[in-house]
Amino acid sequence: MKNPILVLNCGSSSIKYALLGDDSEGRVQGLAENLGLDTARIKHQDINGEKVEISLAGATHQWALQKILNLLSEYKPRAVGHRVVHGGRQFSEAVLVDDNVLTEVKRLKILAPLHNPANALGIEAVKNMYPDLPNVVVFDTAFHQTMPEKAYRYAIPKEFYEEHRIRRYGFHGASHNYVSNRATNLANTGSQDGWVTAHLGNGSSLTAVFDGKSLDTTMGLTPLEGVPMGTRSGDVDPSLHIHLHRTLGYSLDEIDTILNKRSGLLGISGISSDMRTIDQASSEGNADAKLAIEIFCYKVARYIASLSCALPTFTGIVFTGGIGENSSSVREKILANLPHFGIEIDDNENQRLVRGAEGAIHTKSSRLQVWVIPTDEEFQIAKETKQVLGL
Ligand code: ADP
Repeated sequence: MKNPILVLNCGSSSIKYALLGDDSEGRVQGLAENLGLDTARIKHQDINGEKVEISLAGATHQWALQKILNLLSEYKPRAVGHRVVHGGRQFSEAVLVDDNVLTEVKRLKILAPLHNPANALGIEAVKNMYPDLPNVVVFDTAFHQTMPEKAYRYAIPKEFYEEHRIRRYGFHGASHNYVSNRATNLANTGSQDGWVTAHLGNGSSLTAVFDGKSLDTTMGLTPLEGVPMGTRSGDVDPSLHIHLHRTLGYSLDEIDTILNKRSGLLGISGISSDMRTIDQASSEGNADAKLAIEIFCYKVARYIASLSCALPTFTGIVFTGGIGENSSSVREKILANLPHFGIEIDDNENQRLVRGAEGAIHTKSSRLQVWVIPTDEEFQIAKETKQVLGL
């Protein structure tokens, strides 16, 4: 593997990792999960696709990372690219980690209390073990720093923005950046393209991207804003909080848990946050599961229509993420909710493009293009890491 870059995505109880070289010949990747518990383990896949599972009962982040680096020792990474969720207003691109950057990543836990501390833990663990290895951070929010003020400001008193940085930030930046770039290359229109990229997974967000720049996106100060997701509500009336508190006596923390962990597909269906399970139940006649899919598809379509306001030209729609890449029926239902855009779909191509396949699903006479593009956040993070280091 030439110039291998290690990409790390540290969550509160998991570490996703991938080692990518300049040559596009396969990658080594894996997941350490259940960290801190007896069931902690690493699922590792080598360059030939061979999988092993290693039990690491009670492993901490540091211990798991040590094990991951041992598993990768034959490759000697040139650098580590860390996915960091929140970069606040300060970071509009990937940066090399120094003490100031690390302090800032930690300080931004005020905006991402679950994610940034875990991301910082990963950076510190690598710094401790390999002080000479350069660390680069790639922020989920950075891609959206090109949004104009009319898109990122909330209509609330301006001191909250000026003194407390309360504004819309947006997330899933690496994914929206990667798939919009890829769509532009594949479509090859020869002019500046405007895409609405729909990253539909456990977490879902959509972005209006024109000429490679994010102009608006559905997630806001936190990833709760926008479309309904696996367990997140997406947009609700902001007065819902006070209503739940005053009329039902819930505390703010309880309301936060309800909206982040018990809502979305899970809340409406009452069965699962997983689209496959809901799809199955719906096909067996479960009305709540059917409604969950209807609401999801309608809200995604509504956002596609509204995000088109941000684009000087509307070239097309890009589907990605676990649902966007795999569910032809969800794609079909979303597009059926957009009758005014002159979209025509090739049903065979829509059925065919699943499980990692990439391509267009629109017909020649369709007014908008529609692409299915498997996301590759690891590739994007490795690419930005190399750019920062001039590799
Ligand atoms: P994350 O946001 O955690 O990265 P993913 O992008 O992997 O999640 O997306 C997970 C979602 O994708 C789940 O809701 C899962 O049910 C859905 N999904 C995966 N495969 C299919 C499929 N064949 N049909 C419908 N949904 C699918």
